Amino acid sequence: MPPQYDLYIDGQFASPQSGQYFDSVSPADGSVVAKVANGNADDVDRAVRAAYAARRAWAEMNPLERGRILRKLADLLVQHAQPLGKLESEEMGMPSALSPAIIVESSKFFDYYGGLAPSIHGDTIPINAQMFSYNLYEPYGVVGIITPWNGPLNQAARSVAPALAAGNTVVLKPSEFSSLTALEMARLATEAGLPKGVLNVVTGDGVSVGTPLVQHELVRKVAFTGSVRTGQAIGAIAAQKIMPLTLELGGKSPNIVFEDAKLEAAVPMVLMGFILNSGQICTSGTRILVQRSIFDAFSSKIASAAAKIPLGRDRPFPTLGPIANPVQFEKVLGFFESARQEGARCLTGGQRATGEGLDQGLYIQPTLFTDVTLDMRVVREEIFGPVGVLIPFDTEEDAIRIANDTEYGLASGIWTQDVSRAHRVAAQLEAGTVYVNTYHERAIEAPMGGYKKSGIGREKGMASLHDYMQLKNVTMKLI
Ligand code: NAD
Repeated sequence: MPPQYDLYIDGQFASPQSGQYFDSVSPADGSVVAKVANGNADDVDRAVRAAYAARRAWAEMNPLERGRILRKLADLLVQHAQPLGKLESEEMGMPSALSPAIIVESSKFFDYYGGLAPSIHGDTIPINAQMFSYNLYEPYGVVGIITPWNGPLNQAARSVAPALAAGNTVVLKPSEFSSLTALEMARLATEAGLPKGVLNVVTGDGVSVGTPLVQHELVRKVAFTGSVRTGQAIGAIAAQKIMPLTLELGGKSPNIVFEDAKLEAAVPMVLMGFILNSGQICTSGTRILVQRSIFDAFSSKIASAAAKIPLGRDRPFPTLGPIANPVQFEKVLGFFESARQEGARCLTGGQRATGEGLDQGLYIQPTLFTDVTLDMRVVREEIFGPVGVLIPFDTEEDAIRIANDTEYGLASGIWTQDVSRAHRVAAQLEAGTVYVNTYHERAIEAPMGGYKKSGIGREKGMASLHDYMQLKNVTMKLI
């Protein structure tokens, strides 16, 4: 029998009001990993009220103590990295050689923001000798956090840690495709000493749980990571409530390879840039722009490197796991069909991977298309699979124009040995993150977020803390 997971409300597991549970299914072999509570609006209300009741004591706790609890949670996550990593591999197909390390990475959000908690303080504003004016940075109260399935604990920790460090309480709704590590994190948080009600988790789908969470009158801020379409729906509700949002949405990021790039470094990293986590990373560098003089040589090198990447969830790294769920799997296959219809040429991959234990899983070969035009769907739309397009360019201006020819603006990459060019191009790219001679370099201290339709606000770094606080000014006349 697969294990059964309840909701986590007010410091303990709680049955869903509906009494119903849904199957969490492994994308590697179709087995049922767990039965997960099917939450609804009543459960959301219970969780929000628990968070509301807990908010004052948490906000007024000495920040050093608040931070210590968060850092204790970081330690517990590290101690449980193996079982938690296993859960993520089983539920969303992340390679088992990688997932425990991702849990350790995720724990660092609690270390980092726990360490910053005592440093949150206001400032004074000089006006004149009769006036005393100061700013206070205050939490919002209850924050709703909604996360996707592609990096379950990582995305949750990225938002929950700064929200809690800033003194908010949280109701977290993980993706219905990957609920388990969020629930385990909440359980460990209680073990770390987090007061009850400060972190609650309501599982279920977007309409039954996500929408009521955003709509709830006691939720004062929402942080959402997911698709543009859902971000727009959440934004419409937030507009009615006049509620601040952090939106971390999709991308179609350019990775630009100039002719003077160090190709031995660029080829493997540009490849990882679009296939890591089977391409299910919002910042994936899927539009690979290559200067024409090296286009053919680079294309054939990266295509042959892509063809050598093994598939299988439980192989040594590097390996590609399955696509995380059937909906996403069908979406990727649909893009292959449209690319062919539009006349793109497939250099490698382009189909479901089968054989050698892959038949029961949702595996896709690393795929590269060439001979594309800039209006093709495969060039313009986010695919969220291990799929890249190769686009030639002639000049620096060309590269910048093509790179910015997208409604997204999450990340970008530049490969060159010319320092001046690197800075010149970085300044002109319309993206919240620019990597130079690297890609997917993870640093909790460095903020990330979207330009254009890729989002609003920032996660990670100091910038994120400020997104979870509201500013109050107090001005006093010394009469
Ligand atoms: P999604 O938008 O379908 O779902 C994300 C979350 O929103 C899930 O928990 C889902 O249940 C919930 N949801 C769905 N409809 C909702 C509604 N109407 N109201 C409230 N909540 C609702 O996205 P996904 O398919 O889970 O994730 C893939 C997307 O996430 C991609 O577009 C990817 O680029 C993006 N993403 C962005 C980042 C980032 O940091 N910018 C990181 C990871 C993923």
